[in-house]
Amino acid sequence: MKTYVGKEAIANLIQFLQDNRARYVTLVSDENEYAALGQRVEEALREQEFEVKNIVLRGEEIGASERYIVQVLLPADLEERVYIAVGSGTLTDIVRFVSYRTRSFFISMPTAPSVDGFAASGSAMTIMDYKQTIQSRPPVAIFADLDTLCNAPRDLIASGFGDMFGKYTALADWELSNLLMDEPYDAEIAARSQAARDLCAQRAGVLEQDWEQDIKSVMEALIEEGLCMLLTNNSRPASGAEHQFSHFWEMRLLRENRPAIFHGTKVGLASILVAKYYEMIRELSKEQAIERLHKTQKFDPQQEIQKIHEGYGEGIAESIIRTQSRHLNMTDQDYEDLKARIIDRWEDIQVVANKVPAPSEIQKLLTQVGGATHPESVGLTQRDVRDAIQYAMYVRKAFTILNVCQMLGLKLVI
Ligand SMILES: [Zn+2]
Repeated sequence: MKTYVGKEAIANLIQFLQDNRARYVTLVSDENEYAALGQRVEEALREQEFEVKNIVLRGEEIGASERYIVQVLLPADLEERVYIAVGSGTLTDIVRFVSYRTRSFFISMPTAPSVDGFAASGSAMTIMDYKQTIQSRPPVAIFADLDTLCNAPRDLIASGFGDMFGKYTALADWELSNLLMDEPYDAEIAARSQAARDLCAQRAGVLEQDWEQDIKSVMEALIEEGLCMLLTNNSRPASGAEHQFSHFWEMRLLRENRPAIFHGTKVGLASILVAKYYEMIRELSKEQAIERLHKTQKFDPQQEIQKIHEGYGEGIAESIIRTQSRHLNMTDQDYEDLKARIIDRWEDIQVVANKVPAPSEIQKLLTQVGGATHPESVGLTQRDVRDAIQYAMYVRKAFTILNVCQMLGLKLVI
């Protein structure tokens, strides 16, 4: 995949299209993104005599949902076209999906360093109110225009940093799952994801001394995360329990017709909460862990199913239950084996837990980049937070710290 972050993004795009003898393109943006970059891209393409179909999505809150997928799909003709997504994460996910299903290539031109999905192959879509990742295809190239990124809304930039700070807990969760569930773990890719995250943390500490460099760094880090996910063929290097919280909130806001919150903003907030779970683990001695494991009963699958219905509502519950089949079908013996493993590997679990910073440190990083650190400040209520603590672990099948804490009977009190 060709990637470029700099001041000559449009020139690089044109060169790339010419090199690949592409003549028919479909440009997709929304009104803001068209004004910020799309129009300039369109003009430059027409000047070079490309045949351009221009789609500008309209609407207050554009989501990767049926409604907008159709808007991109309808104008598709039988010409072989390259799609160009000029936009942030949501718009890129719509184009990723449509281009894949129309057997076309697509190029991403991010307008904000807001999310780590640009280079990824999965489209985060919300269909019939259910948030899911649908396998699609990565872009053939990413051309990010640095001036556009630097002028992106500050909330979107803070969201990009928030998504990156989520890697503290995401990477720890991946290691935990490897330790306890034998899930494949790739130390080299984990190190790449970690390096990208650490660079963002460094920039956060000196933010605005060199704004262009800050923005270039966070954009490159976000692209790197996408590449890491491509290499592992799953989202483990970039997503753990903090993303489960984020997805839970996203679905709830949608279902209750409440205003959406940027992905990375939710992930940042959730990282503070998930870091608290790791803090609880750090504070537990092996003896205390053994005692808790012995005291805590295995969950009752029927009660779990009931809980999923309560937490997600009828429409979504069935899909969630399907993703939880491994958890729900755990036998008593599986459960006992896992308990034994937790005890056996308690020292290793501590090593992993020690890699997660204190919640206050994540809070500090988010403050440095102007990100939200209190759920209420972005419209999430106490009930939203309490319910995420109750129900978020069911969102995805991934094994995370939330599973471990359930077994230990450790509940987060807010
Ligand atoms: Zn994310």
